[in-house]
Amino acid sequence: LRKADLAMYSGKQRGRNDLAYYHEDLGAAVSARTALETDLRHAFERNEFEVHYQPMVSTECGRVQAVEALVRWRHPLHGLLAPDRFIAVCESTGMILDLGKLVFEAAVQQQTAWQRQGHTLKVHINLSPRQFDCPLVVSSMQSVLLAHGCDASNIGVEITESMLLGRDGLSSRVLQGISDLGISIALDDFGTGYSNLAYLQRYHIDVLKIDKSFIQSSDEERPIADLIVAMCRTLGMAVVAEGVESQAQLDWVKHRGIEQYQGYLFSKPLPANAIDALLAA
Ligand code: C2E
Ligand code: CA
Ligand code: CA
Ligand code: CA
Repeated sequence: LRKADLAMYSGKQRGRNDLAYYHEDLGAAVSARTALETDLRHAFERNEFEVHYQPMVSTECGRVQAVEALVRWRHPLHGLLAPDRFIAVCESTGMILDLGKLVFEAAVQQQTAWQRQGHTLKVHINLSPRQFDCPLVVSSMQSVLLAHGCDASNIGVEITESMLLGRDGLSSRVLQGISDLGISIALDDFGTGYSNLAYLQRYHIDVLKIDKSFIQSSDEERPIADLIVAMCRTLGMAVVAEGVESQAQLDWVKHRGIEQYQGYLFSKPLPANAIDALLAA
C-alpha cells in the first residue's frame, strides 16, 4: 500500500477526505479508493468482518435488555476498523447489500445462541438506505429468521429519518414488510436529521433513539430532548438514550423517565463472547 492509500484508510469522514485529496492529488484519491474497494472485495472472500455488540441497558433495573450489532472490519494490515472507514464505500458500490445480509445473519444466529443459553436478549441491526430501497430485503430477512428458528420479536432494525423521506411508496412498503414479520423498528440518531415530524405519525415506529448530541449537550440545549421524550409518550414509542458517557448524563436520562440507555458509561461495543461474560456476571 502506498502512503495515500494508508491516509485514506486512516481518514474519518470520506466526504471531507475526498475534498482534501482532490485538492492535493486527484490521482492518489482515485487509486486509494480503488485500493479500498479491492480490499473490501477480498474482505468478503476472507471473512474479515466481525460483529460487535453494545448493550442497551434498562435505566430502571440496570439489566442488559438488548444489544446493538455494530460491524467491524478485521483488516490484515490496519487492524480493527470502525464502520465509518468503509460503510460509505460499501454503500456507493452496492456491497452494502452483501454486508447488510452478513451482519443480519450473524446477529440472528447470535440471538438464537443467547436464547438457547437462557438469555432473551433483543438484537438491533442497522439498516442502510440501499437495503431499505430493496424490497427483496424483507423475504431475505424472513428466510434468515426461519433458518435459525429465531423469533422476530427478538430482532429490531434501526433506520434513520432520511430513509423515511422522499421515497414514500417504496420505503413504506419495505418498512411495513419488516414490521409485518414482527421485527420492531427503531428510529436512529433522532433529532439530527429533518425537522418534518409528520412522518412519525405516518409510519409504524416502535422505538426512538435520541441522538447522543442531545444527551451530551449542555443543560440549556436539553429542552429539545424533553420535547422529544414528551412526543414519544404521546405517540406510544419507547425511548432509548444514545451516547451516555457519564453518571451525570445517566442521572439526567433516568430523571426524564427514559427507559433504556446505551453508551460508554456501561460498555463499549464488545465481541459476543465478552457479552456472554457480562450476562453471566
Ligand atoms: P450508530 O448506529 O449511531 O451506532 C452508534 C455508534 O456510537 C457506534 O459507533 C458506537 O460505538 C458509538 N457509541 C456508543 N456509545 C457511545 C458513547 O458513549 N460515546 C460515543 N462518543 N460514541 C458511542 P460505530 O460502531 O463506530 O458505528 C458507527 C456507525 O456505523 C453506526 O452509528 C451506524 O450508523 C454504522 N454501522 C455500524 N454497523 C453497521 C451495519 O452493520 N450496517 C450499517 N448499515 N451501518 C452500520
Ligand atoms: Ca444504530
Ligand atoms: Ca411493531
Ligand atoms: Ca445512533
